[in-house]
Amino acid sequence: MSVLIVGAGFAGATTARCLAEAGHDVVLIDRRDHLAGNAFDRHDAAGVLIHEYGPHIFHTNSEKVFTWLSRFTDWRPYEHRVLARVGEQELPIPINRRTINALYGLDLDEAGVAAFLESRREPREPLRTSEDVVLNSVGSHLCDTFFRGYTRKQWGLELSELSAGVAARIPTRTNDDDRYFTDTFQAMPAEGYTRMFERMLDHPRICLRLGTDFEQVRHSLPRLFTVYTGPIDAYFGHCHGALPYRSLRFEHEHLPHTPRLQAVGTVNYPNDHAYTRITEFKHLTGQVHPGTSIVREYPCAEGEPYYPIPRPDNEALFKRYEALAEAEPDVHFLGRLAQYRYYNMDQVVASALALAQRLVLAYPLAEAGSPVAAEPA
Ligand code: FAD
Ligand code: UDP
Repeated sequence: MSVLIVGAGFAGATTARCLAEAGHDVVLIDRRDHLAGNAFDRHDAAGVLIHEYGPHIFHTNSEKVFTWLSRFTDWRPYEHRVLARVGEQELPIPINRRTINALYGLDLDEAGVAAFLESRREPREPLRTSEDVVLNSVGSHLCDTFFRGYTRKQWGLELSELSAGVAARIPTRTNDDDRYFTDTFQAMPAEGYTRMFERMLDHPRICLRLGTDFEQVRHSLPRLFTVYTGPIDAYFGHCHGALPYRSLRFEHEHLPHTPRLQAVGTVNYPNDHAYTRITEFKHLTGQVHPGTSIVREYPCAEGEPYYPIPRPDNEALFKRYEALAEAEPDVHFLGRLAQYRYYNMDQVVASALALAQRLVLAYPLAEAGSPVAAEPA
């Protein structure tokens, strides 16, 4: 009997491949008409490779994850850099030595920047909210300049209403390192994410059914077990109320006569405009093209669920759904939407590899292709 996997993003595709290689027949569905979930990329009308659902930059400290994905793609080394537009200036974010010197007209060395930040920071204990995190490390002026407006736009909430982990994603530096991430492995799939997913799912035991919603097969498809990677509240018919997810509207644009629009991959707009950031894809992909393609991200409340919103109320509501999930026989909840975690791609892959390993043990095969586990009641 087959296994049903709902969602063909990183969570579902990774699990599908592992289970197929262990001998399970897998039916992998996605309600969208493409695979790769939010990492889906494609060539736009002008032929530039773009990320449909906003910029996806791969980075990880996990050799295991990087090695596993490397079976399905070559890589192009890429270290992401971000500038924040503040007035007429474009300043490195995360805040580093250059940010401080350029913003305040100073010429501090590393020790000078450390002393400057020490004089500005507003120590907080414990670090409960994102406001605590930012004030504790850089104080209120830098918080107002780089974090308050951006956060209000991105989440529709104040920094003080978000859990500490949100702002803690962005470090503060006293040196000149202007990379957005410092992970050991930083690279983009050489032919894009979609191509990598195509190879991952190219296995005789995987049957891919795009354009298929879980509700269409929920009560009709016989299966040994289910791996569900959609929103957890939707699975339970929102019985405890809707779990808040933040959405985005993506405004894609091709500029035919502009070989390069901005100095780095992403420019953030903490204080101006309704969008949070502009990303220029050619930086990420290294593609050579006479024009360029960009995306602006407009955060919004309604629409596709992209981000779980990390704050205590929501975590409490998620726990109620998680309790239902734990009692659901032979259904396993995985990924950013089903686990309601602000996961990066590599964390989802790590989580999927671990779940697949547990499932292979929990549902043993007598011989290749014939599961011995009992059918669900
Ligand atoms: P998803 O990719 O969301 O896949 C879930 C799939 O399930 C979707 O394809 C959906 O259509 C399908 N589905 C849902 N419900 C149903 C249903 N009822 N029936 C059938 N199918 C269903 N991570 C990074 O590491 N680096 C980045 O730079 C980065 N940038 C990001 C930028 C943006 C704008 C966003 C939104 C996310 C970013 N991420 C980034 C996070 C990354 O997108 C996620 O970690 C990853 O996509 C999660 O994979 P997933 O499989 O859990 O979920
Ligand atoms: N953030 C900010 N200003 C910035 C960059 C980030 O205030 O210039 C805050 C904001 O709350 C954002 C969070 O830090 O949502 C995490 O940023 P990240 O770039 O990791 O967000 P993502 O790429 O996941 O959207």
